[in-house]
Amino acid sequence: MLLVIMGAQGTGKGTVSGILCDELGIMQLSTGDIFRKNIKEKTRLGIEADKYISQGQLVPDEITVPMVAEALDSDEAKAGVILDGFPRTTEQAKQLDEMLKQRNKEIDMVINLISPREEIIDRMITRRVCPNCKATFNIKINKPKVEGICDKCGTKLTQREDDKSEEAINNRLEIYDTQTAPVLKYYEEKGIVQNEEITISKNRLADKAAKHIIEMLKDVEK
Ligand code: AMP
Repeated sequence: MLLVIMGAQGTGKGTVSGILCDELGIMQLSTGDIFRKNIKEKTRLGIEADKYISQGQLVPDEITVPMVAEALDSDEAKAGVILDGFPRTTEQAKQLDEMLKQRNKEIDMVINLISPREEIIDRMITRRVCPNCKATFNIKINKPKVEGICDKCGTKLTQREDDKSEEAINNRLEIYDTQTAPVLKYYEEKGIVQNEEITISKNRLADKAAKHIIEMLKDVEK
């Protein structure tokens, strides 16, 4: 199974992907997580990518695309993959099509998460992540059982560097509007997009959206 999860930053892609991976036994391929791991480990890829990420800019395709291809070929990807954070431009979407064609695969569903803008800015500021297992929490709407500690693995939660600066948050949202939103159009034309609303105002959070997606996927499989 191959899924792509889309939506502006802070809509809940990480949380929904985490639930889908647990329920469906597939692998979450998050380009942002791979970059952050490399930054932490100070690899060459990490040092190069950090120049862009710390500014809220996109990492160039020459770095990102081969990294995704390598992850798609990994053993963990065999059971299925949910792509989170890739593709982010129409060019990347076309390169993904090419990659999949070469591997005799195709996208089963593109999940598009939709949330009001004022909610997502607040969610980014209040987001906390586990640097070990990548679980995502929120100090307002998805609190860990013990304050500051990951429910899944007991590691101390941190705040993403690019969630700390208002400038980086605004930059990322602007890139989403100008470069990533057209990717959705590209997939809508292929008829594979499933829209899912996530909003506190209607008490429709990530768990409900994930449950609905799993139901939809059962229909796709039939
Ligand atoms: P994310 O965790 O998906 O919000 O990604 C964090 C940062 O990593 C982004 O703001 C970009 O700087 C970089 N990044 C992640 N995915 C991509 C991608 N597909 N293309 C370029 N840069 C990316």
